[in-house]
Amino acid sequence: MRMRILIIEDEVTLNQTLSDGLKEFGYQSDIAENISDGRYMIDIRNYDLVLLDWMLPDGNGIDIIPEIKAKSHKTAIIVLSARDDKESEIAALKIGADDYIKKPFDFEVLLMRIEAKLRFGGSNIIEIGELIINPEEEKIIYQGESVELKGKPFEVLTHLAMRNDQIVSKEQLLDAIWEEPELVTPNVIEVAINQIRQKLDKPLEITTVETVRRRGYRFCFSGKA
Ligand code: CA
Repeated sequence: MRMRILIIEDEVTLNQTLSDGLKEFGYQSDIAENISDGRYMIDIRNYDLVLLDWMLPDGNGIDIIPEIKAKSHKTAIIVLSARDDKESEIAALKIGADDYIKKPFDFEVLLMRIEAKLRFGGSNIIEIGELIINPEEEKIIYQGESVELKGKPFEVLTHLAMRNDQIVSKEQLLDAIWEEPELVTPNVIEVAINQIRQKLDKPLEITTVETVRRRGYRFCFSGKA
């Protein structure tokens, strides 16, 4: 799986340059131009890293750092700011940013800082009892044995497992996992869930995903068969 980066930045030329540059280096990136769009994206997708501008049209970027960290403490946050006083830098780091880069900055330097954060930011491996899901390598291990579940069903499982206990709707899964959700029918989710049950749950005699009627799906594996 490619690393996914969210750019929350209201300067259109800058966010486009960043997005294009990151794509060139193999990252997937999304752009939000204000806090409310950023919040929406963070809600529906898992990000490895967020590039966060300080001054946004609807508020201070750093104000949403606690929310991003509360949702996934593994999401690295780099604040991009025109403020060059040390108080601002300290404030951003104190509230939870992992790094602070002053504008204007050099793209190559930013890229290296991103790599450093992702390298040391820890892996996204999910471990629940004897079930281990490794999103980067698209691998599932249960009781030491690997399980053949790949592609979309794997991504659906990972997305749900990262939101342990939360109900996720079909629409949210479509938005988060399919590149062009408007081009597929919602039953692709049912197909993926069915694959998870046939290839993972059934042979291992566990239940990983439950259907919550009319609302969506929930990861429910607690580590016990
Ligand atoms: Ca700005």
